[in-house]
Amino acid sequence: MSQLDPPKNLTKNVLLGMFAGVFSAFIFFYFQELLPQTVFNGIEKYLFNLGGQIFKNLLLLIVVPLVFFSLVSGISSLSNMVKLGSIASKTIMLYLMTTAFAVIIAIFFGWVFNISGYEGEVGSFNAPSGETSLYDTVLRVFPNNIFGAFVENNMLGIVFISILFGIALNLTDDLTDKLSKNFEKLNIVFMKIVLIIMSFAPIGVFCLMGSYVMDHGLNIFGDLIQYVLILIFVLFFHLIFTYSIILKIFANLNPIIFFKKMRNVALFAFSTSSSAATIPVTLKTVTDDLGVKKDVSSFVVPVGATINMDGTAIMQGLATMFIASTAGVDLSMIEYMQIVLLAMVASIGAAAVPSAGTITLALILSSLGLPLDAIGLILAVDRILDMIRTSVNVIGDSAIACIVGNSENLLNKEVFYK
Ligand code: ASP
Repeated sequence: MSQLDPPKNLTKNVLLGMFAGVFSAFIFFYFQELLPQTVFNGIEKYLFNLGGQIFKNLLLLIVVPLVFFSLVSGISSLSNMVKLGSIASKTIMLYLMTTAFAVIIAIFFGWVFNISGYEGEVGSFNAPSGETSLYDTVLRVFPNNIFGAFVENNMLGIVFISILFGIALNLTDDLTDKLSKNFEKLNIVFMKIVLIIMSFAPIGVFCLMGSYVMDHGLNIFGDLIQYVLILIFVLFFHLIFTYSIILKIFANLNPIIFFKKMRNVALFAFSTSSSAATIPVTLKTVTDDLGVKKDVSSFVVPVGATINMDGTAIMQGLATMFIASTAGVDLSMIEYMQIVLLAMVASIGAAAVPSAGTITLALILSSLGLPLDAIGLILAVDRILDMIRTSVNVIGDSAIACIVGNSENLLNKEVFYK
C-alpha cells in the first residue's frame, strides 16, 4: 500500500456518516420537548456545530498551502512556458462558455415551466454592502501584497503569485541547485495532510449534516416548492447533460466513468457547501483518479473553485426570474440577455463559501431594479440548494480539467479508465 493511498471505504463511510448525522439530528429535533432546552442547545452547539465547523476549518486550513505548492511544483517542472499560456487560455474560455450555457438553460427551463411566485411574497433582508463588481474581481488577481493575499485567502491573487513564483523557479532551476524538487516534496507532505484529514471525513460529515438538520428540521424546501424543484431539475440537467456532452465531444472520454470517480468530490462539496473547502479532495481526485497531470490540475482546480460556478449561475438566473415575478415585473428579451451576463459576473465574483452566490445575487437584482429584499425569501430555502449547486460547481471544474488535460496531452487515459 502506498503512503498516499486514500482512506479505505471512504465513500461508503462518508455516506454512512451523512445518514447517521441526518437521522440522529432528526430524532433530537423532533423530540426536543423531551429534553431540557439547555441539553438540546448543548448538543446542537458542542456536538454538531462545533464538530462540523472544525472539520470545515481543517479542510480550509490546507487550501492555501496546497494550492501554492501544487501550482509552484507543477509550473516549475513544465518544459516550456507556452504550454502554461495555452492551458490558462483554454481553461478560462471553457469556464466562461459553460457558465453562459448554464444560465441560458436555466432561463429556458424557467420559461418552459413558467417559474413564478406570489406577488408581494417578499421577506425582509438587509442588502449586503460592498457588492462584487467585475472591476474588483479583476483587481483581486493582482494583489499589492504577497502576504496580504495569503492571509485574506484571496484565491485568485494566490494563484497569480504561485504562477509567477513557479515561472521564476522554473527559469532559475540551474542557479538554485534544483530548488523546485523541494517544492515537489513539500507538495507531497501537504497531500498527506489532506489524506489524514479525509480519514476524519465520516465524523466531520456526520456533524455537518446534523447541524443542518438541527437548524431547520427536515422542512428544507419551505414554501417555495416550485422554485426549488425547477432549480434542482436544471442543476441535474446541466450536470448530466452538459458535462457528458462536453466530455464526449471535446475529449472523447466516457462520462459514466467520470461521474463514478466524482463520488467523493460530490459528497465533500455537498456536505461542506464550499468549493474552496473541497479543493483538497478535488485536486486529489482529478490528479490521482482521473489521470490529469499536476501541471494542469493544479491550475484548473483552484481557479475553477474560485471563478467557475455553473450551479451558482443557474440559481442566480432562476432566482432573478422568480423574484421578478413576485415583484410583478415582466422581463424583456434585453433583460434576459442582461441576466446571462450579470449571472456570469455574479457567479465569478461569488466566494467559494456557503451562500455566497445568494449574496452576489444582489448585483443582478440591483442592476435590473428588482427588490433586494427578495433575497430574504430565497435565503430561507438556500441550505439544501447550496449543497447541490456546490457539487455541480466542483464537478464542472473537474470536467474541464479533464478536457484541458486531454487537449494538452496531459491526461493519462490508462488512469482515467482504471
Ligand atoms: N457555495 C457555493 C460554492 O462554494 C457558492 C454559492 O453558490 O453560494 O461553490
